[in-house]
Amino acid sequence: MAVIIDGKKISQQIKDELKEKVQKLRAEGKHGALAVIQVGTDPASGVYVRNKKNACAYIGIDSLAYELPEETGEEELLGLIEELNQKEEVKGILVQLPLPEHICEDRVIQAISPEKDVDGFHPWNTGKLTIGEPGFVSCTPAGIIQLLKRSGVETEGKNCVVIGRSNIVGKPMALLMLRENATVTIAHSRTRNLPEICRQADILIVAVGKPQLIGAEYVKKGAVVIDVGIHRDENNRLCGDVKFDEVEPLASAITPVPGGVGPMTIAMLMNNCVQSIETGQEG
Ligand code: NAD
Repeated sequence: MAVIIDGKKISQQIKDELKEKVQKLRAEGKHGALAVIQVGTDPASGVYVRNKKNACAYIGIDSLAYELPEETGEEELLGLIEELNQKEEVKGILVQLPLPEHICEDRVIQAISPEKDVDGFHPWNTGKLTIGEPGFVSCTPAGIIQLLKRSGVETEGKNCVVIGRSNIVGKPMALLMLRENATVTIAHSRTRNLPEICRQADILIVAVGKPQLIGAEYVKKGAVVIDVGIHRDENNRLCGDVKFDEVEPLASAITPVPGGVGPMTIAMLMNNCVQSIETGQEG
């Protein structure tokens, strides 16, 4: 029987620690707001934005919401970002993705001041991660590092396979595991012999974005399995990229979906905001 890594509990611990820190910072006169920009009315984005505002309220930081209509032009959005870049009290700027097709996401990400880029998507921050310097780190992979650390999973010298090479999850995840002294393999859609490669993993991190792709044949006995995926199955129930029922008996520890990686993302976003308030820049 695997240990079920409880992301809900761990994310709550982190938010409680941050709440305390925010009180101390306020007493020192340090405070600031997170600006959240949403363009259009995508229902999933609406839920994410609401959760982010609630998390800000919980830990005691201000949030400013900008809900722009779907037809907002790129120049208008870039203008708003520039305005927020200049505002002293705004310590974090987040643009909810995906954006409508007529807006270039890369241009928008690069318009955010790297010092307020609490999502950690700006090339300045991804570059810092690459060379091992402090900066804002993408929240989902940063949350996975916390899950591993706070569950007592050793990483040094361990074989880690990350499936997925996206800029938001796979690549930063691999770099963070490297920082934790794991021996890292990045697998992706063109990888050959994926099950065989995955069976080498002491720690298998799955971010393929394909519902329940990863079954028992991909997992070594005793491996730690982290499931980043989040989908709805044919019965409209949440599921991950991993066949939980099949993999759990083999694993030594595993994250469930929901209640694993998901709640960590917002906790780490809050962590980045607090870091920005604390230092006035990326930590
Ligand atoms: P993505 O689609 O950008 O990237 C998926 C990656 O998987 C690609 O690099 C691709 O090469 C690889 N891939 C696709 N099919 C493959 C296959 N058959 N074999 C091997 N590799 C394959 O997705 P993403 O943004 O990295 O997100 C991955 C998953 O994580 C999605 O399900 C997404 O919804 C979820 N996600 C969850 C959170 C969270 O907070 N829990 C945050 C971000 C993403």
